[in-house]
Amino acid sequence: MNKYLQDLIALSKYDTSISQFDPKIENQRAKLAVFVETAEALKVSINSVYLEIDELKSKRTKNNIHLAELKTKLDQIAKKNKEVTNEKELKALQLEEEIAKEQVSFANEEIERFDKLTVAKEDKLKELQEKLKTEEEDIKEVKVAVDNEIEAINKDRNIVYDKRNELLGQFDKKILTFYEKIKRWAKDTAVVPVKQQACYGCFMKINDKTYSEVIKGEEIVNCLHCGRILYKGEEETTATEA
Ligand SMILES: [Zn+2]
Repeated sequence: MNKYLQDLIALSKYDTSISQFDPKIENQRAKLAVFVETAEALKVSINSVYLEIDELKSKRTKNNIHLAELKTKLDQIAKKNKEVTNEKELKALQLEEEIAKEQVSFANEEIERFDKLTVAKEDKLKELQEKLKTEEEDIKEVKVAVDNEIEAINKDRNIVYDKRNELLGQFDKKILTFYEKIKRWAKDTAVVPVKQQACYGCFMKINDKTYSEVIKGEEIVNCLHCGRILYKGEEETTATEA
C-alpha cells in the first residue's frame, strides 16, 4: 500500500480515537453528577420537612396559648357564677362556659393532631437523613472510581497523542495539509474505508475505475461524490481486481 495512504489511515484513526476521549470523560462525570443531584434533591426535601415541623410546632404553641386564655376565661366564669343574681345571667354564663369548654376540647384535639403530624414528619426526616447519608457515602465511592477512570482515560489519550506526534514527525507536509482541509468539514471521517464498493463517508457507490484504484492502494484516491480519502475496507477482497 502507498506509504502516504498508510500514514493517512493511521493519522485518521488516532484523530478519531482522540475525539472519543472527551465524551468518555463526560460520561464519567455524568455518572457522578447523577449521585450529586440526588443528594441535592434530598437536602432540599430535608429542609422543607424541617420547615414543616417548625410550622407544626408554632401551631401547637398558638393552641397552648389559646388554652391558657380559655382557662383564665373559665376561671372568670366560675367566679361570676357565684355572683349571679338572676336566671337570665345564669343562662348567659352557662352558654359562655359551654362555648369555652368546646374550644378547650377543640384546642386539645388540635394539639394532639399536630403532635401526630410532627411525629410522622420527624420519621420522614430521619428516613431522608439516612438516605442522604447513604447517598453521600456512595458519592465518595463513585468519585474515587470516576477519578480513576478519568485518569486511565487521560493516560490512554496521552499514549495516542504521543503516537500521533511521532507519526506527524515524519509526515509529508503536503499530504497533511490535504488531510486537514478535508478534515475541516468531514471531521473524523476524512479517511474512510470502501465497503461493498461504497464510500463509507457518504455511502454512495463508487465507480469501477475508482474502486479498482482503491483496491490496488497504490495512489491516494478521493471519493468522487464527497471528496473523502478512500482505502480498502477489511471485508473488501481482491475479487473485483480480476
Ligand atoms: Zn464519499
